[in-house]
Amino acid sequence: MNYIGAHVSSSGGLEKTVLRAIEINATAFSFFTKNQLQWLAPPLVQKTIDDFKSSCIKHKFTPQQILPHSSYLINLGHPVNNLLEKSRFSFIDEITRCSQLGLSFLNFHPGSHLNKITEISCLLRISESINIALEKTKDVIAVIENTAGQGTNVGYCFEHLSQIIKNIHDKSRVGVCIDTCHLFASGYDLRTIKDCENTFKKFNDLIGLKYLKGIHLNDSKKKINSRIDRHESLGLGEIGKVAFQWIIRNKNFHYIPIILETVNPRLWKDEISWLRSQVL
Ligand SMILES: [Zn+2]
Ligand SMILES: [Zn+2]
Repeated sequence: MNYIGAHVSSSGGLEKTVLRAIEINATAFSFFTKNQLQWLAPPLVQKTIDDFKSSCIKHKFTPQQILPHSSYLINLGHPVNNLLEKSRFSFIDEITRCSQLGLSFLNFHPGSHLNKITEISCLLRISESINIALEKTKDVIAVIENTAGQGTNVGYCFEHLSQIIKNIHDKSRVGVCIDTCHLFASGYDLRTIKDCENTFKKFNDLIGLKYLKGIHLNDSKKKINSRIDRHESLGLGEIGKVAFQWIIRNKNFHYIPIILETVNPRLWKDEISWLRSQVL
């Protein structure tokens, strides 16, 4: 069973996300728990929480099918202490919001060293940030997304993700989300079945498939190893359709949210139905 959907807008109220998912025949969705370009948002009111939860129940979405995404401002590996604190505070707030909504995951980008500290110390800071956040919250799994390696972002290789996880105290509350555009842009090939097999074998060897909690299914406007993060609609970019077929047919990716963040929301419904039609 595949859970397939897209990153939908939460404008007009969080409960609207469920309806937007239904409109595109999705069985999974993601959304920002608050404005992704703001540090803090007003606390969730009980009515929002109740409306969101009842909408999920009514339309048969379980927490396993929902992969909320955190704000882009958060940098859990920030080299400057007071700004690191600000990020940690905001991250804890986002996990708390997910917990209040009855959700299981929070997906986030690991962080950036900003050329002020080494990659390894940035990765250590990220693990420490996650440990602090997990201690102060409950239930929700922190889901680290691989990056394209643009600018000074860490998390562009499996070694980085595995290094972060290694230092997490409660491993039952950490996971990984693989973004196929980021994967390709950071140098992992996906253009043939063999490439997909090799890339995910590396993932399994270095991290372990049991940590995989979600997939962002995006084609890439830029070439392999470009280190530039530019999403494209499925089949219209440099990756091509083979990778998406392979992922959708692979039983290892059943029961985890597979989320489109492709550039044209008008195509999502067709992209989802094309993906379903590829299941053997
Ligand atoms: Zn992301
Ligand atoms: Zn993504």
